[in-house]
Amino acid sequence: MPKKEMKMPIDATQPYDDSNIFARILRGEIPCGKVHEDEYSLAFNDINPQAPVHILVIPKGAYVSWDDFSERASTDEIAGFTRAVGKVARGAGLVEPGYRLLANVGAGSGQEVPHLHVHILGGKPLGPMLSR
Ligand code: AMP
Repeated sequence: MPKKEMKMPIDATQPYDDSNIFARILRGEIPCGKVHEDEYSLAFNDINPQAPVHILVIPKGAYVSWDDFSERASTDEIAGFTRAVGKVARGAGLVEPGYRLLANVGAGSGQEVPHLHVHILGGKPLGPMLSR
């Protein structure tokens, strides 16, 4: 029987490690289903979607998590990234039906990739915020 891959949550207090998969996507070393790109951000479809629309938006800068980004990013980076998240959701037609933004930070949240990413989820009623 094939072994099920164990995914370990990351430690968001560690320094940025540029071997992570989203850094590799940013460098063009591995492909992604690109939805949007601008000076500050890249958005692409999640490889394992949890909703009919599941897009990840990442900053182009090297930030481990929302904690790292909100502390160290420049005002232009924060503005550019925030606008990109809104633009991508709008472009996916999610404003009228509604959508959810989610950013996991560190071990207790289950963050798996140590490069900040905001999940945009939508395309169906999403139910309660957390599983019960
Ligand atoms: P998180 O648990 O918040 O760190 O979310 C990581 C997300 O990255 C998961 O939803 C994965 O499905 C997604 N993911 C991992 N590798 C890739 C990839 N190569 N392309 C697109 N999404 C990915």
